[in-house]
Amino acid sequence: MTSSASHENDADVDVLIVGAGFAGMYMLHKARQLGLSARVLEAGAGVGGTWYFNRYPGARCDIESIDYSYSFSPELDAEWDWPERYATQPDILRYLEHVAQRFDLLRDIQLNTRVKSAAFDETAAIWLIETDQGQSVRARFCVMATGCLSASRTPQIDGLETFTGATYHTAHWPHDGVDFSGQNVVVLGTGSSGIQSIPEIAKQAAQVTVLQRTPNFIMPAWNGPLSSEDLAELRRGLVKRRSRARAMMMGIPFPMRPINARAALEVSEAERLAEYELRWSYGGFGLMAAFNDLLADEEANQTSVEFMHGKIRGKVHDPEVAAKLMPTSFPLGAKRLCVDTGYYEAFNRDNVRLIDLSDQPLKRIEADGVRVGDELVECDAIVFATGFDAMTGALAAIDIRGRDGIELKTKWAAGPRTYLGLSIAGFPNLFLVTGPGSPSVLSNMVLSIEQHVDWIGEALKAIEEKGATTFEADEAAEGEWVEHVNEVAARTLYMKAASWYLGANVEGKPRVFMPYVGGVPNYRAKCSQVVREGYAGFSFG
Ligand code: NAP
Repeated sequence: MTSSASHENDADVDVLIVGAGFAGMYMLHKARQLGLSARVLEAGAGVGGTWYFNRYPGARCDIESIDYSYSFSPELDAEWDWPERYATQPDILRYLEHVAQRFDLLRDIQLNTRVKSAAFDETAAIWLIETDQGQSVRARFCVMATGCLSASRTPQIDGLETFTGATYHTAHWPHDGVDFSGQNVVVLGTGSSGIQSIPEIAKQAAQVTVLQRTPNFIMPAWNGPLSSEDLAELRRGLVKRRSRARAMMMGIPFPMRPINARAALEVSEAERLAEYELRWSYGGFGLMAAFNDLLADEEANQTSVEFMHGKIRGKVHDPEVAAKLMPTSFPLGAKRLCVDTGYYEAFNRDNVRLIDLSDQPLKRIEADGVRVGDELVECDAIVFATGFDAMTGALAAIDIRGRDGIELKTKWAAGPRTYLGLSIAGFPNLFLVTGPGSPSVLSNMVLSIEQHVDWIGEALKAIEEKGATTFEADEAAEGEWVEHVNEVAARTLYMKAASWYLGANVEGKPRVFMPYVGGVPNYRAKCSQVVREGYAGFSFG
């Protein structure tokens, strides 16, 4: 395939990619392999996406390094040594910077550039992309590699502007780090970012006060260094390990059974506990798949909840604090599990205090601290670990207009609608990487990103081979897929938590379960079937 950007449709570039994280970088590489011209526009001053911005202390991936790496290049696998079982943010960023250099990506990545709008010109079959740098780019195809967790949110708390100390958000951490020595620090939020940063901040600060609205279920990471022998063994088994990952529900190759064929309530208590212990001792997310009814039956789920409560009791010395740290308001797995190193142990320190906001509500922020109940918690700094407008936030921040000038925001007013999380009816030649309606955040993101980029690459090839100028999801196929995504989610306990999967953490956001819970293998099979059937549900124009 050869680039046609310069002589067809008056485009500047064949493929315009928004975002230079794992997804955008691989998309650029893929487009080049196809002989297409491509350019990436990235808001950050460096590559890496979420791993560029989320530099808070303790930031680390909750999927093992070996699985959270690109698989497209055996040479890259051979030359890159991950130092730990779970990579730190600096290590992942170093890896992505290495990839950018290794594959000569930087010459087509424009940094410090935020995309403001993208509009489809039907007459020319061209996307017109405008940036905050005053540039316009005309592209035949536009790929939104904008990330699922990139639009951060800071809650509007009365009096925030009156606070005289420093404020930080975990997703926009200062590049030079923060020295909390001798300081009183308040951390708001106990999701993955909070639970990773709190133990590290506690090592430095004089006092840390954790304001908890809802405790989460937290599995241990059992992190540790990878020796050269470990790495050699991992490399020997890599091909098998990756094909196993693709066959697993979450795209993570746990050594345990992918989904236990047994139901939690069918086995004896001793068997149940043994299975939970096995998964606890391995660490990570595998507990969710310990039995096939855990995410479907509340009584079954409760057995895993009790198991986790027992673990918290065993780790936290003060029984009252332990009780506050036990999630009771939603089923295990219905909110994203967290994976920790030393979170519960941090509450055994003298300088860490837990305030449960259901006992002492957060009233306002004042010049010297945070008012909770009748108490003013004086502090020098407030850390917001308050999460993201997930899955749709980064897209909503761009004014995207498809056929007839229809705005994506309008189309998605009642919740996101996509075909396979890859494409949107009415928005020809626009692709999403790990968009809503795909397993995305319920899976190993790197594996899902690669699958999407490979699929988009195949679609681009098919478009070129057919000499088509447009490629678009059919309204009917999209409708059926959205219905299927909702139907599968409705059968699960995922609907029982006020999670960011459902948009519940953002005021006014429609409550629609956004990712596809049908699992990685089913989803991959569906995507392949669509291709085999000549792109069923898509139209070439
Ligand atoms: P999050 O899971 O959405 O957690 C936000 C926390 O802030 C929650 O505890 C939430 O309480 C609290 N919060 C929000 N607004 C509040 C308010 N007005 N008052 C009091 N509390 C408030 O965000 P996150 O921790 O950044 O994690 C988001 C996702 O990013 C994760 O689930 C994960 O997928 C990803 N992530 C991954 C890693 C990793 O290890 N690879 C690390 C960090 C993040 P409620 O629960 O009550 O809403």
